[in-house]
Amino acid sequence: MAEIKRMFINGEWVEAEGGERIEVMNPSTGEQVGAVSFGDGRDAVKAIAAANEAFAGWSRLTARERSKYLYNLYELVRKHRDELAGIISAEMGKPLREAKGEVLGAADNFMWYAEEAKRVYGETIPSSVPNKRIMVMKQPVGVVAAITPWNFPVNMVARKIAPALAAGCTVVLKPAESTPLSAVRLFELIEQAGFPKGVVNLVIGNPESIGQEFTASKKVRKITFTGSTRVGKLLMEGAAQTVKKVSLELGGHAPFIIFEDADLDAAVQGLFESKFRTSGQMCICTNRLYVHESVLDTFTDKLVERMRRTKVGDGREKDTEIGPLVNEQGLNKVLDHIQDAREKGAHIAYGGQRLTEGEYAKGFYCEPTVLTNVTKEMKIYSEETFGPVVPIIPFTEEEVVVQQANDSDYGLAAYVYTQNNSRCFRMAEALEYGIVGVNDGAPTQTQAPFGGYKESGIGREGGYYALEEFLETKFVSFGL
Ligand code: ADP
Repeated sequence: MAEIKRMFINGEWVEAEGGERIEVMNPSTGEQVGAVSFGDGRDAVKAIAAANEAFAGWSRLTARERSKYLYNLYELVRKHRDELAGIISAEMGKPLREAKGEVLGAADNFMWYAEEAKRVYGETIPSSVPNKRIMVMKQPVGVVAAITPWNFPVNMVARKIAPALAAGCTVVLKPAESTPLSAVRLFELIEQAGFPKGVVNLVIGNPESIGQEFTASKKVRKITFTGSTRVGKLLMEGAAQTVKKVSLELGGHAPFIIFEDADLDAAVQGLFESKFRTSGQMCICTNRLYVHESVLDTFTDKLVERMRRTKVGDGREKDTEIGPLVNEQGLNKVLDHIQDAREKGAHIAYGGQRLTEGEYAKGFYCEPTVLTNVTKEMKIYSEETFGPVVPIIPFTEEEVVVQQANDSDYGLAAYVYTQNNSRCFRMAEALEYGIVGVNDGAPTQTQAPFGGYKESGIGREGGYYALEEFLETKFVSFGL
């Protein structure tokens, strides 16, 4: 068995109380790439106590002092970009080029919040009576419990812990159990950056048991989570016990709408970015492609032509554009959506199969796939696929396609391609989504708000919006 990586609690690397361990597998090859200590609620209790102990000291530092630690971390993450990217690729299959981009995105978060930490401003408000003064101050909420998924195993951690630490909160992080190695490496850099003990803690292990401690603990004042809507609802319910703040980044089912006046080459490129990055395993991935009937054939031909040139393979190979799915369960769900659509009358314009020959034999690979004749009755029309499948639905009327696009329980990201300025604004305003890419298939940036409407979540990550999520607002009334 490989070296056992441990958890980081109160500034020390520790084994799980229960002594359990798990192996980490590479979805490109089925090989073991590492092993970690696997804890449970007992370890979470220790980590929460450490974070609680550290809170007074950390929150009382000046913002400039906190900022220095975040800058240190920014520099360390940049310096170790290739190494971190290699770990990401090995444990979840993402192409190296994308993994390097992810690490730079994480570094950017540490830098952004190192700067933004210094700009947590309060306010004074004119009083209605002459002998009083109104002051509004911002204070850190307290101990934060963060839970992250496997699809961006480094950047999701950064997006949560950077604003939390900048605000003056202390943190306990639980990463996804399939991608703990990159979190461990990031925490080694956190240790190197010199954060005081207990300020940032890492607990790896049983999600239900750890989640239970996070939600029930009175010491935890905020839960920040990215993952499925199902688990998000459980956490929100649990957090109600102690009326904690919650930020939830949940599932999505993004519509991508191509009008007759769109630049079709730009639309193919935008679709590629929104659909195939991370093998289609992002919550902002396109899940319904609406194409105006008059450009349907031309667009489909262009898309299929682009897909023929796409290299699917081991994430660690240089020329790989699309890697494997994260595990067998993920692959089976994608194949089930394709099969279901086929049975209900969809036509396969490209792909449609699991790849099993040669280099693909041991991994969880699905051909990038284009489906036409897709209808509302098919699972893929309303359920999140989380895989490299493009279902195409033709339309003719703008008003109708807006209704169709909004007819979803999700509301995270939507995309529109058109060269008509008025329509750009009409669509941006009409779509019930937290993020709208207008002629842009990759709209995320560190400083912009990221989050969803409806069952896609509550709260926002990114920019000042994320900092707000970790702050309380206090009103102080001064009698003169
Ligand atoms: P996915 O289907 O994408 O893996 P999940 O919502 O299951 O999404 O997982 C996202 C994160 O939530 C992971 O870190 C996982 O361990 C964690 N998780 C799963 N179930 C629970 C739970 N009951 N309580 C707390 N965290 C959970």
